[in-house]
Amino acid sequence: MTNPRLITIANQKGGVGKTTSAANLAAALATEGKKVLVIDLDPQGNASTAMGAEHNSGTDSSYEVLLGDCTAEKAMQPSSHNENLFCIPATIDLAGAEIELVSMVAREGRLKTALSDEALEVLDVDFVLIDCPPSLGLLTINAFVAADEVLIPIQCEYYALEGLSQLLRNIEMIQKHLNPKLQVSTILLTMFDARTRLSEEVAGEVRSQFGEVVLRNVIPRSVKVSEAPGYGQTVIDYD
Ligand code: ATP
Ligand code: MG
Repeated sequence: MTNPRLITIANQKGGVGKTTSAANLAAALATEGKKVLVIDLDPQGNASTAMGAEHNSGTDSSYEVLLGDCTAEKAMQPSSHNENLFCIPATIDLAGAEIELVSMVAREGRLKTALSDEALEVLDVDFVLIDCPPSLGLLTINAFVAADEVLIPIQCEYYALEGLSQLLRNIEMIQKHLNPKLQVSTILLTMFDARTRLSEEVAGEVRSQFGEVVLRNVIPRSVKVSEAPGYGQTVIDYD
């Protein structure tokens, strides 16, 4: 019986490094021999692009999985980057899901249902990483209900902590009402610029507020990280 770690990567703030963290963490784990599935829950489809997954409208994707029209196994594509790496892509069809889900039965638990114990057994992966859109709507709620852990990337910039208390309040609500197992297991400081005092200040503030869930390693701001997707590569392959 496989027991994958189910990790949602979320922060309703845009551009903080959610997708970059999902794609590169997945690639790094796959390089270590772990079997990893990335589920793209963002209609922008950036994680799908990063994984090299086909994601034209109509492709079996997270949208069909949420609607119950397709199993996770059927929507899961092998990545061209690494044989241990898989992706359930997001197509533009997902853009309507936030509204379509509102009127559906068990709207918060749709991804959870698709990732039942039986389904996970079939998928047979060690890690599931869910890349969320920059919002706290039903897509992100589905990711919170389906996962055991939340990884929050925080950008080492001004306003980094703004919105964080709202995010944590939402997670508490999910814990209370929908998924008592959910935990903020990891906070990752991203785009750390060692040349600026601001990065140090933000990092210090986050560490003093959140303690040991903050990873000791920070992700440096590096042009290589932002260039890699342009070459159809993760930064692990690119540099
Ligand atoms: P969204 O909220 O739109 O989904 P996101 O939180 O997923 O955004 P990313 O797309 O991962 O954020 O990153 C935002 C931008 O910052 C991208 O252009 C990415 O290439 C760049 N970026 C991410 N991490 C780094 C880094 N460590 N150094 C330099 N650029 C980075
Ligand atoms: Mg993203």
